[in-house]
Amino acid sequence: MKGLFIDGKWSPTPARYAVPNPATEEIFAEAPDGTVADLKRAIAAARRAFDDGPWRRTTAGDRAQILSRIADGIETRKDEFRSLLIGAGGATQVSFVNQLDAPIEQLRACAQLATSFEFELKLPSVTQQTRSGKREIHSLAVRHPVGVCGLIPTWNFPLYVTLQKVGPALLAGCTMVVKPSPWGPLVDLLLAEVVDSCDLPPGVFNVVTGQDPALGAELCESALVDKVSFTGSVATGKKIMQSCAQTLKRVHLELGGKSALLILDDAELDEQIPAIASPAYFHAGQGCAMRTRVLVSRKRHDEVVAKMSGFVGKYIKVGNPADPQIMMGPLIREERRRAVEGFVTSGVEEGAKLIVGGKRPKDLAKGFFLEPTIFAEVKNDMRIAREEIFGPVVCVLPYENEADAIRMANDSRFGLAGGIVTKDIGRAVEIAKQIRTGGVSVNGASNSLVTPFGGMKESGIGREGGAFGVEEFTELQSISWPS
Ligand code: NAD
Repeated sequence: MKGLFIDGKWSPTPARYAVPNPATEEIFAEAPDGTVADLKRAIAAARRAFDDGPWRRTTAGDRAQILSRIADGIETRKDEFRSLLIGAGGATQVSFVNQLDAPIEQLRACAQLATSFEFELKLPSVTQQTRSGKREIHSLAVRHPVGVCGLIPTWNFPLYVTLQKVGPALLAGCTMVVKPSPWGPLVDLLLAEVVDSCDLPPGVFNVVTGQDPALGAELCESALVDKVSFTGSVATGKKIMQSCAQTLKRVHLELGGKSALLILDDAELDEQIPAIASPAYFHAGQGCAMRTRVLVSRKRHDEVVAKMSGFVGKYIKVGNPADPQIMMGPLIREERRRAVEGFVTSGVEEGAKLIVGGKRPKDLAKGFFLEPTIFAEVKNDMRIAREEIFGPVVCVLPYENEADAIRMANDSRFGLAGGIVTKDIGRAVEIAKQIRTGGVSVNGASNSLVTPFGGMKESGIGREGGAFGVEEFTELQSISWPS
């Protein structure tokens, strides 16, 4: 890696830190260990580029062309991204649809919004009564770029999460400093190489990697930053909101989840079992929107548990993701594996039934692996049902009736995602409206290029995706005049 990317130039750092391969525990690469001084240089560059540079005065069409060039650049270097995602992130072949293809597609869709996004909206004229008579007032609502953005993405889907912020921020005309998670810096550095070849004015896009949590804190506290967009845990999100309050920054938070999947009694289980059983093991359960609380009526509970464990035993093969046959890779770090094992212990102690998994696979001596795990007979007040585990653990909870199921789904401090499995789509949509989460998937449908994504309750503030994501990087101004 060439160094930090600041003000359109590569800036090597004296210090570097090791990024391990979570499947082998060997050092995969080294990343620049930037300091707060580096970050301040990047913020100053982004400020200059916003205030004095040409970027925000370009047309949306011109900015869209740059986005398309970045998308093409990523496409051209797909193999390099793939090897970083496998080697530093533990991503499996099956996850590349989300890890690599979807972010490129999202970026292209974002570029296309240049023609439809309403940067200026003519409002209806209004008649005002003044002392000298009546007059017509005409108004425009203008969407301006919000300014200098501090972007703090996470490591689990690093390209996806970063581009969901970078694409809309660039299209809106913002400048930015990306501060990746210390556990996932390499993809953002490779992205900086791509951006470097796309003729952006210096200072518009900066990347500062490093291990020091003070880097993120500086982005939140700096008076030169107008907005922070963060993806990570609820605990850090709360700290970010507090420190952003000092300068009344705009804050966008994409945080954790504990999503429920409601299986209605009419569900066709054999057809739907992959949608029920597999999402929580995708990327070893390290996803915010994984549907890890499976709610099923008491009478079908045992049947669902048997089918889920049959599916997991047959299809969820655990191992080194460099092997394309592998369905589930390792957790990102040993400390995360230990945290997930702590949840398994607490589930057993609280009386949930451990059906499969919960252990380290015997045949894998190295790597932060854990077996895919299913708990049955889980109660919604158990710790494993209340907290985000962020590992390959699914809880099956029996419910008495549909009203009970909806109440259980909503009985959570999180509100990110959820799912419903049924033959009756109309009924599913009605139930979905009663669930307080930012998204609900029916029969395994995934988010599309136009849908908003984000959390209610403690799962976050703001929405990414489509035009909704671009709006978040704009500020409204009204301009009015009499005729
Ligand atoms: P985390 O909360 O540990 O975040 C770590 C990041 O925050 C690092 O970059 C760190 O430098 C920075 N940081 C730490 N203290 C800070 C401070 N005081 N001010 C500013 N920055 C600070 O989370 P994580 O482990 O990176 O991510 C896992 C979480 O992300 C899970 O909860 C998951 O659900 C969530 N997530 C959410 C989404 C979503 O879109 N909603 C997507 C992916 C992951």
